[in-house]
Amino acid sequence: MAGGGAPRAVGGLHLLLLLAAARGAGGAAAAWTEEKNYHQPAILNASSLRQVAEGTNISEMWQKDLQPLLIERYPGSPGSYVARQHIIRRIQSLQADWVLEVDTFLNQTPYGYRSFSNIISTLNPTAKRHLVLACHYDSKYFPQWDDRVFVGAIDAAVPCAMILELARALDTKLLSLKNVSDSKPDLSLQLIFFDGEEAFLHWSPRDSLYGSRHLASKMASTPHPPGARDTNQLHGMDLLVLLDLIGSPNPTFLNFFPNSARWFDRLQTIEHELHELGLLKDHPWGRKYFQSYGHRGMVQDDHIPFLRRGVPVLHLIPSPFPEVWHTMEDSEENLDEPTIDNLNKIIQVFVLEYLHL
Ligand SMILES: [Zn+2]
Repeated sequence: MAGGGAPRAVGGLHLLLLLAAARGAGGAAAAWTEEKNYHQPAILNASSLRQVAEGTNISEMWQKDLQPLLIERYPGSPGSYVARQHIIRRIQSLQADWVLEVDTFLNQTPYGYRSFSNIISTLNPTAKRHLVLACHYDSKYFPQWDDRVFVGAIDAAVPCAMILELARALDTKLLSLKNVSDSKPDLSLQLIFFDGEEAFLHWSPRDSLYGSRHLASKMASTPHPPGARDTNQLHGMDLLVLLDLIGSPNPTFLNFFPNSARWFDRLQTIEHELHELGLLKDHPWGRKYFQSYGHRGMVQDDHIPFLRRGVPVLHLIPSPFPEVWHTMEDSEENLDEPTIDNLNKIIQVFVLEYLHL
């Protein structure tokens, strides 16, 4: 029934509109949920790009955000508690008005019931729409091997540290979201640190994605804005940007989803602009992290429970996976600092442009 030649993004939009109509949402009530489909970035000029590049600090991220996370932290472990406290404390040390929530629940696992805790940090919780940055902070459980512990550096301590560094580097700008004088901002930022992304034994629908499955289902049944009758917290997610397996040299990211392709293109353009200004390190001409050629396969990750419920997703995970993935080599020594620094700059610009800051 869909027009054969029509771009898939248009088809997706029609589908969304049909779904909205089918749910009987009133015109006025539903209108804001469609704003994300038309949202445009406010493009930063060269001097603002320089400001972002100078404002982010990879050594500070390394020492203050990343290193404390490089511990064993599978769900329910002592390290999981330490990692959670670390993330919370780092966010609490900022000036912007973050509202922190820890979503703790029990779930059956191959080892019996275990406790999981997602961390959700939100600016302007009553704003209708949020751009969401997410990662998982649990590490995969592996038995110790020759006294070596699996710390999951790229998987996903680095993505968590990158999100913390983004919140720190953009703190003053994010603080300004609070001070919008006349009206409350309609669009703000949310950070999600999922627990229990990893399987305890073998990846399966029941043994994986514990935190994201729980949170997506909870958000789907939580009215948003508070008191709304027809809309829930998932309607309030403009775009879920999920970071995973980042930190190895020479990553290549592909675009998975037609309905977020224009945002993927934005990342590509930002990479190019920063490169042209000489603001990226170890980034020779022709180097591109964000590649245009399509990838229609899907990688199982924390976005899935949200994607299935209609949330637009940007999945920033390298294709192919880095070689150290799920080995004891996924450690601090094998991280590539310039790559992480470059990606910090690109993603920070992306967020500022998205939020019009
Ligand atoms: Zn993993």
